[in-house]
Amino acid sequence: MIGQQYLLLPGPTPIPDRVLRAMNRPMINHRGPEFRDMLYEVTRGVKGIYGTDQNLLIYPSSGTGVLEAAVVNFISPGDKVLAVSIGVFGDRFAAIAQNFGAEVEKISFKWGEAADPHIIKEIIQKDKQKQIKAVLITHNETSTGAFNDIKAVKQAMQDHPALLMVDCVSGLGALEFNMDDWGVDVALSGSQKAFMIPPGLGFMAFGNRALEIHRNNTNHRYYWDVTAGLNYLEKGQTAFTPAISLIYGLQEALVMMAEEGLDNIIQRHRNYRDMVRAAIGELGLELLAPDQHASTALTAVLAPGRSGANQIRSKMLNRFNIVLAGGQLELDDVMFRVGHLGYVRELDLLAVIAALEITLLESGFKVELGAGVHKAQQYILAR
Ligand SMILES: *Cc1c(COP(=O)(O)O)cnc(C)c1O
Repeated sequence: MIGQQYLLLPGPTPIPDRVLRAMNRPMINHRGPEFRDMLYEVTRGVKGIYGTDQNLLIYPSSGTGVLEAAVVNFISPGDKVLAVSIGVFGDRFAAIAQNFGAEVEKISFKWGEAADPHIIKEIIQKDKQKQIKAVLITHNETSTGAFNDIKAVKQAMQDHPALLMVDCVSGLGALEFNMDDWGVDVALSGSQKAFMIPPGLGFMAFGNRALEIHRNNTNHRYYWDVTAGLNYLEKGQTAFTPAISLIYGLQEALVMMAEEGLDNIIQRHRNYRDMVRAAIGELGLELLAPDQHASTALTAVLAPGRSGANQIRSKMLNRFNIVLAGGQLELDDVMFRVGHLGYVRELDLLAVIAALEITLLESGFKVELGAGVHKAQQYILAR
């Protein structure tokens, strides 16, 4: 098929040409001065996106790798952990902690909803002996398109000493996050979502309180050890061979993010969310997450009659070269997800809405052609 593919997944996301070109460079010595300068620059840049002045390590890893890194560095076997889940990724964080010996109490909220800070507050207040060592939670739940109010969760913890550990893999850079202001202790992210670079880098930010706890941590680890990571970072190196090409890409992506400005980036993602939700609502399709918890990174759309989502996706791919994500686990075929994070333009989303109208009509659903596009156009004009 001619032309570019519209990759509207919640990761991997489209890569700007500037980033592709930046990655297409020869290798350098990862223990030499050029790499040192680059590592310091990108470390500073990623810290800026997190809103932290504390510690940051970059690993060659998928996002799940750094979730595991957080568990093995900051949670010891036998530690009591409160895992808050609103979907697949909340469950994953809980499962990792469980696998590494934590005593996990998991509270789950209905898929599509956000966690209720009042319920977290009740559990925390009952823990008079301060046995809970960490609270694990997802920032943006990619499986449902809902996000958690991390600031409110931290406030709900009051002065409880448990570490607040947040999976920000799909939220960081697409949705507001202020690690130090909000009092988050550990925050994990990855390259393939809002950072506009390919999969393969994991970011782990952690505060000094978490670092103190790490010093007495008894979990098994080698590759992920943050003491080693920080010792090497002092010399401008990583403990093990870094993904140099991806770091070239990260360096360029951070320049692009600085040019646009973080506040503008977050606002752009809010606009995408509101535009997509308005247009899809106009087509009579139901959205999984309610407005107040709706993610700016992706929108989860229920198929008409709650089945046939995969057929809609394959028609979008075969006819229009548009790639949408499916539903995970019990939401497979029930819904599809439109990723609108990272290097995505308004124009791409207008095209997706137009193509979706045709696809729905051809699939036998009652759709007024142009209704969704019209709504999106009105949204753009009114802004
Ligand atoms: C993408 C994602 C991850 C990590 O997934 P990987 O496939 O390991 O990169 C973790 N948490 C959330 C919320 C995600 O969206």
